[in-house]
Amino acid sequence: MIDRKRGFFDEAQERMTAAEREGFRRRILCDAVRHAYENAPATRRKMDEAGVRPADVHDVADLAKIPLTRKADLKSIQKGELPFGGLAALSPRAMRRIYVSPGPTYDPEGREETHWRWEKAFVAAGFRPGDIVQNTFMYHFSPAGLMFDEALLRIGCTVIPAGVGNTELQAQVMRDLAVTGYVGTPSFLMTILEKGKEMGIAPGNGLGLQVALVAAEMLPESLRRRFEEEFGIQVRQAYGTADVGSLGYECFEGKGMHIPDEILLELIDPATGEPVGPGKIGEVVVTLPSETYPLIRFATGDLSVCTDDPCPCGRTSARLLRIVGRIDQVTKVKGMFVHPEQVGQIEGKVPEVETLQLVITRVGHEDQMTIQAVLGEGTSPTDALRTRIVETAREVTRIRGEVVFVNAADLSGKEKKIVDNRKWE
Ligand SMILES: [Zn+2]
Repeated sequence: MIDRKRGFFDEAQERMTAAEREGFRRRILCDAVRHAYENAPATRRKMDEAGVRPADVHDVADLAKIPLTRKADLKSIQKGELPFGGLAALSPRAMRRIYVSPGPTYDPEGREETHWRWEKAFVAAGFRPGDIVQNTFMYHFSPAGLMFDEALLRIGCTVIPAGVGNTELQAQVMRDLAVTGYVGTPSFLMTILEKGKEMGIAPGNGLGLQVALVAAEMLPESLRRRFEEEFGIQVRQAYGTADVGSLGYECFEGKGMHIPDEILLELIDPATGEPVGPGKIGEVVVTLPSETYPLIRFATGDLSVCTDDPCPCGRTSARLLRIVGRIDQVTKVKGMFVHPEQVGQIEGKVPEVETLQLVITRVGHEDQMTIQAVLGEGTSPTDALRTRIVETAREVTRIRGEVVFVNAADLSGKEKKIVDNRKWE
């Protein structure tokens, strides 16, 4: 039996003590800032405008002196100075590959031994040398396919560059080539497994899949359980972007995604721009020490929550508990930020409610929050229930709203958890 639970790619680094980690972070931070300042013209301009010199940055707290570079602005930044907007430290000719993301925006890949840093994620997820891995991420234009491919090769796996689509062929390949590992989205994995079932491929009968790393989508716990119980597959999730590669990965414990040791990740309060502590929602802002693409305070637009509680796996890095959503889904109401996940939390705490939708309007100079509540079948709209919804919403969002009981058909823009009807003139 292969041990898919314990294992490290770089044990010394992954298990650094707090003091070692602090020293390591300080070193890679200073190197990254100096390298970017000296070689990436856009970063130098940004720092000069803010009056910050590399010598002013000694530890992570000093990073706050440098303004953010927003992923949402990448297209226009790049357009001003093609192809990389002055953010890359090397010329396009020095790159190994150049990818094209929707927009289009251009993503450089350098000639470093590992540019995207997914090796730790695979080992943590349970991949081992000798695994035959079906990689269903896209291989053309997008970096997704190749970034995982390269890491798998580096840890000693064999890769089938399957790419997206072709469900039936995917299922056949999984059987014919005795595939043991899968990389791709969780929904596509389920699609392949269900197609396989129709074709008579099942655990112990042509299905030898043991381990999967999924990304690019939410992995609901109910789906993870199905993979494990129905198909016997150990499924772990990871989080990353086309700009920076790996930003987090689950270990065997499966309770949050370890932040890679070799990047600096801040969570920033969208309201104040200040770093938030464990348990609080903030935007993921990355500083990437890289020879090729040394991004300094790159704001991804993703919202997350972290913990620095020790993980039983032995890795000492902090963990991102989950990706909460996108910053463009966040709505500011009465000076507080409200996001769709909070609406889900309220729903979870009031079981009589089937679904909730917040409608934000403006009366005079004040924001008003109306909570449209659709009740489960057979539940009566009582005053006690109304009070409980108001109180729960206040606990979660710190905003007092008014409850209106409605039918599901009355919700405007049904899939939306927050509807902003304010007019700004
Ligand atoms: Zn862990």
